Amino acid sequence: MDQTRSPASRRPIRRAAIAELASIRQSLRIHRPGIICDPALTTYPAIDAICQDAIWTHHEFQPNPSPEAIHSSATEFRRVDIDAVIAIGGGSSIDFAKALAAHVGTGERLTSLLDSGFGGQQALPIIAVPTTIGTGSEATTFAALYDRGLKRSLDDPSLLPKAVILDHLLTARLPATQAADSALDALCQSIESLWSIGATPASMRYARRAARCTLRCIESAVAGDTTARRAMLHAAHYAGRAINLSKTTAAHALAYPLTIRFGVPHGLAVATWLPVMLEFNSGLTRNNCAAPIHFETLRSNVIEATSTLAPTAKQAAARFRALVRRLGRPATLAELAINPEAALQAVAESADPHRMGNNPRLITPDDLPALVQSAHHSP
Ligand SMILES: [Zn+2]
Repeated sequence: MDQTRSPASRRPIRRAAIAELASIRQSLRIHRPGIICDPALTTYPAIDAICQDAIWTHHEFQPNPSPEAIHSSATEFRRVDIDAVIAIGGGSSIDFAKALAAHVGTGERLTSLLDSGFGGQQALPIIAVPTTIGTGSEATTFAALYDRGLKRSLDDPSLLPKAVILDHLLTARLPATQAADSALDALCQSIESLWSIGATPASMRYARRAARCTLRCIESAVAGDTTARRAMLHAAHYAGRAINLSKTTAAHALAYPLTIRFGVPHGLAVATWLPVMLEFNSGLTRNNCAAPIHFETLRSNVIEATSTLAPTAKQAAARFRALVRRLGRPATLAELAINPEAALQAVAESADPHRMGNNPRLITPDDLPALVQSAHHSP
């Protein structure tokens, strides 16, 4: 087992095999954990054994969880008096587990935590076992919830998992489409993190590492190569650490409406916007900069983010879309069969304003029609 310390969080990140979960639980003094586990994962004998052994295991949840869904499953976890939550699965499982740990740990309703914060109260301890190759949620203090047609984020230091198990063997049965969508999410996170207004020297280091490694291994990882899946799982973890510091930007902000309104998987929705934002952000000037005082730095960061893919924004956008298509996934709104007028209405009504405000170039409502047009039909 290889154990390192995250400079961002000063908490240990454990890269252990799933078989080491019991000793991790022991070291964290967790005796009565509740488990959130994607049902498909119980085909792994190691995970089945963990679920059989747990005080309570919850398998019934939908992607993109709502506060109501979490409140209704919390009753049983409260009845058995859990002292921690173990999340086994992709981004939705981990976000579900974080929200459950927040609700049960603080005793507050999630809408109140979303509106007013945690007020010093703590979520229950969380152990995260990601089984896709791109959520990054195991490395962040936030959890995405979908509340009445809007994406909102719980955000509190107590939501950062106390331990993370990165065991690539648990990704062996991940279907290629899910592997592609989650790995694309990690690539978008790392590129967005580089040009984010909230970027720090530490987030830039994590993001560079994640982007370089992802570009090297994404295609083999999606094809199922074991070594590449291991590398991709770690790259995704570093992309998560990067956005934990910098937060994501406009490609994520514009993606949530595609997931909410049209059911596009999260990573694929973000990948639809990333090339659009590569070209849009290349037009950054002092006048349209969202943080003019940092204009020189942001311009240089946009150039660096773009150059991870190609020398110019146009070439970078084309390389990114070509990669999406080689992974067997649709790269535009047209390829997703989404009508541009409907997409425009969705993004105008429900793009995430916080992530949008983190984009280096200001985006006004007047910019949206051209952005949607570019997302709809591009080479
Ligand atoms: Zn994402």
